[in-house]
Amino acid sequence: MYIDEIVLENFKSFGGTTRIPFYEDFTTISGPNGSGKSNIIDAVLFSLGLARTSGMRAEKLTDLIYNPSHDGEGEAAGPREASVEVVLNNEDGTLSRSQVTTAAGSDSVGDVDKITVKRRVKRTEDNYYSYYYLNGRSVNLSDIRDLLAQAGVAPEGYNVVMQGDVTGIINMTAGERREIVDEIAGVAEFDAKKADAFDE
Ligand code: ATP
Ligand code: MG
Repeated sequence: MYIDEIVLENFKSFGGTTRIPFYEDFTTISGPNGSGKSNIIDAVLFSLGLARTSGMRAEKLTDLIYNPSHDGEGEAAGPREASVEVVLNNEDGTLSRSQVTTAAGSDSVGDVDKITVKRRVKRTEDNYYSYYYLNGRSVNLSDIRDLLAQAGVAPEGYNVVMQGDVTGIINMTAGERREIVDEIAGVAEFDAKKADAFDE
């Protein structure tokens, strides 16, 4: 499974609609400082529910909505809503049809060769709302989490290696590094269950 494309709508520095295609093997994004490269990674984290707001370099969720006067003075009236859709190519069958229908809570998910995960954030006068969709069906974050975990994508899974993570790993003790390997290999889950069993 790999990312085919992401579709940003008013997300961070991307006003309007922006479609960004990804290649199967390797995609690099280059551009001047401040041009929005890291914002693209933030978009993936946002849509797949893989990071806290601070992990997307924002103070609050609504800061992720495109703000025309972000770097300037005052508050220009910007859009009230942002969304990011990640289109996953699942032609290799990483996720089965039943895994997708279970997560979506519906049989009508269409073609599962393509899996779309979409998240929207909307602000009102005094509140904000966040919505997730799986192949167009409204779902909860936990449904997305459970589904992606079955494909080996998890917030603690190092699918996304952020700036500073590498230095962090270099500075760890051997024991801490081992924990990361266990986490990626999926062993950590069993260690936790074993520890729970001993506690009982
Ligand atoms: P670098 O090469 O320095 O890492 P980059 O290409 O990764 O740069 P980003 O960090 O992705 O750049 O983009 C930073 C830009 O995004 C800043 O100019 C910032 O003003 C802009 N930005 C962030 N949030 C918003 C927002 N809500 N509305 C408009 N612009 C935003
Ligand atoms: Mg950057």
